[in-house]
Amino acid sequence: MNLRDLDLEQALSLLEQAGHPLPPQADADPRVLLQAVIDGLCDLSLRDALTGLANRRHFRAVLEREIDRVARTGEAALLLILDIDHFKHINDTYGHEAGDQVIQAVGRRLAECVRPMDTVARYGGEEFAIVLPNCQPAFGLAVAERMRQAVQEHPILLRSGHQAHVTVSLGGAFAPQWVRSSVSLWMERADLQLYCAKTEGRNRVCLEETPASSVTTEEKSMLFGVSLFSDLEVPGDE
Ligand code: GH3
Ligand code: MG
Ligand code: MG
Repeated sequence: MNLRDLDLEQALSLLEQAGHPLPPQADADPRVLLQAVIDGLCDLSLRDALTGLANRRHFRAVLEREIDRVARTGEAALLLILDIDHFKHINDTYGHEAGDQVIQAVGRRLAECVRPMDTVARYGGEEFAIVLPNCQPAFGLAVAERMRQAVQEHPILLRSGHQAHVTVSLGGAFAPQWVRSSVSLWMERADLQLYCAKTEGRNRVCLEETPASSVTTEEKSMLFGVSLFSDLEVPGDE
């Protein structure tokens, strides 16, 4: 097949609009061009157009992987859902474009608060979701509070010259360790906590309580099929 016969016009124009540069060798080598187009379109399909953060599709795939990892390793992982408070008021006061600016600024602020291994996504209109792998329950509240404060403490300068003071509410839940849960259940649990943060007055964090003790060593060994009792005599086993 001659790669030069492919119709790439629309794909190339999409990538240009999104500011995706093609590698210099793409002019001379059609395989390099095709690979760059595929990579560019994959990248576009995983990002939210307004903020450049992960989109809902990408985020759900990341959560799926994280659930697998937590079930295999027993490591803790925290899911946070964050919603801008009274955002409709910002749109109504300053206009929809200013609202978009606020969403972008909050997205940037959140991205600054996390580690490279964490994923921040724009999950819906003025709602974000963050997954923090390997985050111990003892640190969960501090991490979420840091995000809440980072937004509250930095008013957003709008193109109109006005300053928008915004706050956010966060709800969070840890993935159940050693058990294979589902993305929807995990999201529902974090969402319930977001609902609590909203009803308790907004500009706050609510995290689901984690059980004081997780799975015991015996339970773990049963899950992994390694018997702690292999030295014990079993009746009728002579
Ligand atoms: P709450 O504190 O309960 O979250 O109140 P709220 O006003 O933030 O929530 P509500 O659901 O009443 O309003 C959200 C608004 O966000 C309504 C919708 O028009 C607006 N919105 C959704 N997506 C976008 C977007 O992409 N850009 C802008 N500018 N506005 C959006
Ligand atoms: Mg909302
Ligand atoms: Mg809101």
